[in-house]
Amino acid sequence: MAKVCIGIDFGGTAIKFSALDADLTPGPVTSLPTPVEQGPQAVIDQIVAGANQLIEERSIARKDIVAVGIGSPGPLNIRQGILLALPNIPGMENLPLRDAVGEKLSLPATLENDANAAAFAEYLIGAGRGSQAMSMLTLGTGLGSGLIYHGQIIHGRHDMGGEVGHLIIKPGGRQCKCGQRGCLEQYCSAVNLARHTTLHLQKGEASSLQDVLAEKGSIDSRDINDARRAGDALAAKVWDECCYHLAIGCINLCHIFDPDRIVLAGGLSNAGDDLLEPVRKHWLEQNWTLFEQKTELAIATLGADAGAVGAAGVAWQVFGGLDATAA
Ligand SMILES: [Zn+2]
Repeated sequence: MAKVCIGIDFGGTAIKFSALDADLTPGPVTSLPTPVEQGPQAVIDQIVAGANQLIEERSIARKDIVAVGIGSPGPLNIRQGILLALPNIPGMENLPLRDAVGEKLSLPATLENDANAAAFAEYLIGAGRGSQAMSMLTLGTGLGSGLIYHGQIIHGRHDMGGEVGHLIIKPGGRQCKCGQRGCLEQYCSAVNLARHTTLHLQKGEASSLQDVLAEKGSIDSRDINDARRAGDALAAKVWDECCYHLAIGCINLCHIFDPDRIVLAGGLSNAGDDLLEPVRKHWLEQNWTLFEQKTELAIATLGADAGAVGAAGVAWQVFGGLDATAA
């Protein structure tokens, strides 16, 4: 049977598992809930159980498994394979997650930031395929990001590189959970867009979204885009502001990194061209005129499976000799 790497995407609510062949064909992704209440040992046991379940279900021989790759929220010490902290699960401080999982599975293991892993998957087999320098921005609860250059994930000196969500795009602006003000994440994640639109509605501003809020108790980014498409003025305004700020963030990113492609992922990217077109418009209006801006904007293609697939891709690169340099 063909060799595989196992990929694990460890998140605050679910843990996802996938097996990736040497030709980078991903298998089906399975999922288990994260036992948040039960502490670190239960989390490790659940990760190991899910991996073993996948191995059995797919009838993978142990000798054919090259390595296991884990993607995790940060902050991480990637070289040492340590999860430094995880605010929503107490007791996860300074946890040697890579070696704990690797030893229990008797496999070589890697640990990577989850947003970097997802970006690596898009780079290998998704919307970033064929690029040499790629950035991915995941517009979900927060704004996760990953930068890939010639097949290498950019970690920086302290594993904090590529945190595009915390570029300050509005000095003195909205307070971010990170301690800064005016971070891109505060203006362009799906959850923050919905949160700040809700504040407008709570002030009593006229909008068809008032009915949605009254009916469902909350609104999401899809509701806002639906209202915008139906001609709602408030929805159009907040959507356009979000796209404007995203364009500013992308322009700043280009001046630092000059990628050939920026891939947009996460909940907000489900809007497809409804997101891309206004971002491109602001991008062209706000960008410099010194040179033609050649970077392309694209929507991610792998969806929520990207994290597990990318974690396996990292394992292939570290232990399987995968040359991820674009041809
Ligand atoms: Zn921030």
